[in-house]
Amino acid sequence: MPEKYWPETVILWGAGATKNLGLHATKELIKLILDISNNDFSFLKDKDKKLADAFKKLVTEDLIKDPMISRIYDLKALDIIISTNNKFNMHDLFTMLDQLIENDMGFNAFCDGRTQFLRVERVKAAKRCLILLIEELERLSVQKTPGYVDKKKIEPYYEFAKILTELMVEEARAFEDRGYKRDTRRFYLYSYAIISFNWDPLILWNIFNVHKEENKNPICFKDGLELQLYDDFGTKVASNYLDGDESEIWYTSDESQCRSINDYNYPSRIARIGKVLFPHGMFGSRICPECGKSIITFEEKWDRLSTEIFGPSILQDLQKNWKYKTHKENKYKKGAIECPYCGQITYPYDMTLIIQSLSKQKNVAALEELKTEMGLLMKNAKHIIFAGYSLPLDDIMVKTFFMSSISGNDKNKLKCTVINYDEKYRGEDWLTGQNIYKYMRRSKNHSVVECIRNVLDIFLEKNIRVCLKGIPEVFMKDGRISKKKVIDILYPRDYFREGFPIKRD
Ligand SMILES: [Zn+2]
Repeated sequence: MPEKYWPETVILWGAGATKNLGLHATKELIKLILDISNNDFSFLKDKDKKLADAFKKLVTEDLIKDPMISRIYDLKALDIIISTNNKFNMHDLFTMLDQLIENDMGFNAFCDGRTQFLRVERVKAAKRCLILLIEELERLSVQKTPGYVDKKKIEPYYEFAKILTELMVEEARAFEDRGYKRDTRRFYLYSYAIISFNWDPLILWNIFNVHKEENKNPICFKDGLELQLYDDFGTKVASNYLDGDESEIWYTSDESQCRSINDYNYPSRIARIGKVLFPHGMFGSRICPECGKSIITFEEKWDRLSTEIFGPSILQDLQKNWKYKTHKENKYKKGAIECPYCGQITYPYDMTLIIQSLSKQKNVAALEELKTEMGLLMKNAKHIIFAGYSLPLDDIMVKTFFMSSISGNDKNKLKCTVINYDEKYRGEDWLTGQNIYKYMRRSKNHSVVECIRNVLDIFLEKNIRVCLKGIPEVFMKDGRISKKKVIDILYPRDYFREGFPIKRD
């Protein structure tokens, strides 16, 4: 019999969910890259001067004049490519670069009144530069002062992570009282999962930090065992752990580990685990070019306001708090992370950022595994929340993936919540039934209407509710994240009759 317990509520976390933190959607990123190539730095005018200067130095000096860096990350080639078409969107650009690289073809560009030919080596270097710029721009966007996010802006996300964690502790108590066996999914698996289509790791970082706080002061069960909370990435990710001078491999936790911790024969503590997936890749993570393993690195500081989770920058001033750990990392710097398995040095361009692309990517095992896991989560969910994720169904890959994952789910029962943002909307908090269509007819916000229409293509109308207040506002009351609202959004009584903590039969 297949496993019957899966996270009941799956949150699809998208660009709309982190807009409030200053992060850019892909549409804005491409515009910023065009601005940079036109020498227009007006987007830096409100930035901290040190950060703005460092960024300018990166794109006007290091990436242009440094003989080694400019050959690896070819900004000039990227400029030439994007200047041939001012309507490029990120999706098309990635797809085109991938196609050229796969077919070992160069690029012919007519610009500044003449034709220029870029050999495939330069197309590759242009793609590396594109990935680097995306990461640098996003890291820059969240920094208020060098090295740190804006405390005020991040607060709601931290509170949200805190409440999620509180709920998972409550769930643990309730499940224990109901006699769910600790070494089964019924007990240890969180009732929510997050699938982030963003590359930024901020939601993960906040949850990590709250888990760490909770694990330091855990609740105790009747038999004296302490509760510990972990995250499962859906694939094995390793990191370097330094113990004195010894370098050790450290793994992110996973379900199998959780099950063995909860073994009744060897009582030590009690573990619960939640799924947080990054199917499009994540800043700061790398795929080792030598051994192909998926790796990540954390700074030991664990300051929740620090931007360290974005990984090292090629320019120290753009990631002030970063400290290289191993001997090799210190020798090579420039964004180096040493692979804990084979000792190879990885660089920012070993980061696998995916934007759903029609071209057949070279299969990366870890990402394939994530896709499978994501499909299973969708197929077995009872409630799916589109949290600022706009479901780009015009991308045929996305459409077919969603349709095939959900096809095994009972559509009559599968519920859906759409959280999007329309600043002009003034009506009731939740739109359902005919009111959804009424809004769609009247609204001038095409992207929101498009998103709702796509959701209506997949889910039954009677199972959909829509909120247009945006994130984090949708969870807030009187300026703070409200626990009641989080429960109402994740586990609404209309969908889960027994309310929270939900029942697992
Ligand atoms: Zn390796």
